Amino acid sequence: MNRFDKITVALDGPAGAGKSTLAKRAAKFFNLMYVDTGAMYRCIGLYAKQNAVASKDEDGVKALLPSIKLDMKYDENGTQRMILNGDDVTEQIRQPEISTYASDVSAMPDVRSFLLFMQQDMAQRYDVIMDGRDIGTVVLPNAGLKIFITADAMARAKRRFIELEEKGVATTLDEVYNEMCQRDKNDSERAIAPLRQADDALLLDTTELDLEQSFKALCTLISERFQI
Ligand code: C5P
Repeated sequence: MNRFDKITVALDGPAGAGKSTLAKRAAKFFNLMYVDTGAMYRCIGLYAKQNAVASKDEDGVKALLPSIKLDMKYDENGTQRMILNGDDVTEQIRQPEISTYASDVSAMPDVRSFLLFMQQDMAQRYDVIMDGRDIGTVVLPNAGLKIFITADAMARAKRRFIELEEKGVATTLDEVYNEMCQRDKNDSERAIAPLRQADDALLLDTTELDLEQSFKALCTLISERFQI
């Protein structure tokens, strides 16, 4: 018998650790709703860019928030689609330049509280696996299971580089590595909701694991905790 009323899995970790790939698969496998919170920050970053507001211009970004309507939809494959003011921006927000925008706007308290309610509301209504940087520490401090997924920085950069190459994005491994390290530094050192492992989170280091092994490790943690 499952001692949890709801299934809530909080998945945090640095960029490129495999969180979203693994969470998406685990969501399908256990029939959970996958919530990618990074995509929400990316939408705010994209909107700032579209409106020619610099990513570090806190007053400028704050002024944009009332005109942002963010929706999440799920297509027939269970893929989360991000709808920004009526437009599907799911692909646009994956451009590498939007990663930096997202990281900069995510350090702003108004941006974080703007998204917090939406994230907590999803977990109230559904069984979720939610990934991000502060899910176990701030968004869902009472999550039934918290996992911190990480891997060596070069291993993460290589994976992300291959992913971008497959999508036809022109970049180099060096560029990806440097952008990733800078973003991890920003995310870990910011004053509000920094990236860190929650005290009660389990650590999953995937440096030496391939995708199948990482998936298996994640599934074992979920099924042991929730008895599913
Ligand atoms: O996960 P992803 O790389 O798409 O996230 C983009 C950026 O959004 C991160 O670098 C981080 O700055 C920010 N973010 C955050 N808190 C979250 C999820 C993402 O600050 N829960």
